[in-house]
Amino acid sequence: MYQWRYLGGHLALDLCNTVSWRLDPARTVDRLGTAALFADWFRTATGLRAEADHGMLDRVRLLRDETIRVVDAHLAGEPPDLRFVYDAWREALHHARPSERLPITVTADEPVHHLALAVAELLHRPDLSALRRCDGEGCGWLFLDTTRNHSRRWCDSADCGNRARVRAYSRRRA
Ligand SMILES: [Zn+2]
Repeated sequence: MYQWRYLGGHLALDLCNTVSWRLDPARTVDRLGTAALFADWFRTATGLRAEADHGMLDRVRLLRDETIRVVDAHLAGEPPDLRFVYDAWREALHHARPSERLPITVTADEPVHHLALAVAELLHRPDLSALRRCDGEGCGWLFLDTTRNHSRRWCDSADCGNRARVRAYSRRRA
């Protein structure tokens, strides 16, 4: 069974990274293939239980794909279309349980709302210059580069990073 990986440094980015090899259509795999897989991912990502059904899975996938679109546009220096994530955020706030103490934290029971709040939290961050897409060929995974010299290039240096090093090595040998 596929081992979930949490390399994004943020729940919203880990949600985006439930699509593997998204920039290589021949290899793209949606890891949230069933409601049960989503419930498992959500539980390990958040520690919360989810009663997932097919309708919820569709809504989560849509939120994920729209979030990827927003982040990709941002990384390309293009103005992102934020309508969908705004609407999802508004809807989530409507169902949220606000905290009674400061700082304010908002949580929502419904997984799709919980995730929409996480997406909004990500997009509100002032450090979005740390947002990166893995340099690995076809990978497309997203992460926050929190290294001191902003030098992180790979989702995982032992994975995409290693493949790139091997490729560079065989190019030099050729
Ligand atoms: Zn990668």
